[in-house]
Amino acid sequence: MKTIIEPFRIKSVEPIRLTTRAEREEKLAAAHYNLFALKSDDVLIDLLTDSGTGAMSAKQWAAVMQGDESYAGSPSFERFKTAVQNLMPFKHIIPTHQGRAAEAILMALIGGPGRTIPSNTHFDTTRGNIEASGAEAVDLNIAEGRDSQSLHPFKGNMDLEALDAFLADKGDAVPAVMITITNNAGGGQPVSLENIRATADLARKHGKPFIIDGCRFAENAWFIKQRESGQADRSIPDIVRDCFACADGMTMSAKKDAFGNIGGWLALNDDDWADEARVKLIQTEGFPTYGGLAGRDLDALAVGLTEIVDEHYLQYRIRTNEYIVERLDAMGVPVVKPAGGHAVFIDAKTWLPDMDPLDYPAHAIACKLYEIAGIRSCEIGSVMFGRQTDGSEKPAAMELVRLAFPRRTYTQSHADYIVEAFELLKEDVHRLRGFAISWEPKQMRHFTCRFTPKQRS
Ligand SMILES: *Cc1c(COP(=O)(O)O)cnc(C)c1O
Repeated sequence: MKTIIEPFRIKSVEPIRLTTRAEREEKLAAAHYNLFALKSDDVLIDLLTDSGTGAMSAKQWAAVMQGDESYAGSPSFERFKTAVQNLMPFKHIIPTHQGRAAEAILMALIGGPGRTIPSNTHFDTTRGNIEASGAEAVDLNIAEGRDSQSLHPFKGNMDLEALDAFLADKGDAVPAVMITITNNAGGGQPVSLENIRATADLARKHGKPFIIDGCRFAENAWFIKQRESGQADRSIPDIVRDCFACADGMTMSAKKDAFGNIGGWLALNDDDWADEARVKLIQTEGFPTYGGLAGRDLDALAVGLTEIVDEHYLQYRIRTNEYIVERLDAMGVPVVKPAGGHAVFIDAKTWLPDMDPLDYPAHAIACKLYEIAGIRSCEIGSVMFGRQTDGSEKPAAMELVRLAFPRRTYTQSHADYIVEAFELLKEDVHRLRGFAISWEPKQMRHFTCRFTPKQRS
């Protein structure tokens, strides 16, 4: 059969409240044109993020009832640890409430002033935790990763030459080498197994530990199976094990590829680091057999980890994005290609070449998409990155609208609805005027700032 179907049937549903365009225009104005300020009840299709927004399976909900809430030594922890180690053979598994808590603990161990940590591209919370420790975060993604039209199969790859030169030059200041799979900040683009191994070899050659940010490890393994020579006949769990076998540790947000609504972990091989991390964990998260989680969460994640490596699920997930990218591309909407693992990205700078980047073209498109169709997306451009630490403002490298897909949540007709929304948007897009920011907080303004629409001149 050619048709790729959702490999699940629906046992429990959440109704979507349908709204009219007039209602949405009113809601958005009341939210000062910040999509984060909308009530989720007023959103039809919520593509703000894929983090913790997916559907748990019947087996996961059943596992929730098995959760043992003992403070210490809970069997839920043993089940969680076994499920993690089945895919990622690290010695120490340290549960946390989210990925960023794992990063904060890791950076308490290895960060600090004068240190510098290279990666293909650090995700923003990773960068935030590195910088908060006083260290520097450096991105060494291959050049193709920054070209929205390059069809390179592994645009998330580390630039190996640049990493080798960086380690030769700055080696003394580097406590560890990191890599993010898939490269979230770079559009959910994958990293090849060959590149992961070569990065590990370079780290080893320079005597550095190698840590993987593994949030979307299963999507990354699916891309490896599809695109890397010699990998097509291998199982997803085998590919996953190979990716992590060459690392000394990992950080993880279980809100991504563990099918959790909450959770994360830090994994390490080094006994001394693990001892130090557990001290920090007890101070900030909780006892080492629950971290920042309830026993029931640990059980849901243990089951989620067995489900996420299912090839039929991964095929449906990646195909949904590809389908939307193909349709938008055919329609002449500029999209980042090839499709990433968890999201579709619209290139607003290419679509609206005449709009000043500081009138926030990607934000203007995201707002119109909500008004037209009730779809909530996320600006990744000058609203998010434009404000500089010295108070000035400068345009971001790219103006993107991200449509991030919650896992196992939406169906093919939702995908077709999204495509149709762009057909309507396309008719209007050149009339968009952009926005000014009328109020903003001191940091991370995109979450809470207020906008006013620019008037026609
Ligand atoms: C989401 C994410 C994180 C942070 O995880 P949280 O659970 O949101 O704290 C870190 N790295 C990557 C690549 C992510 O996608």
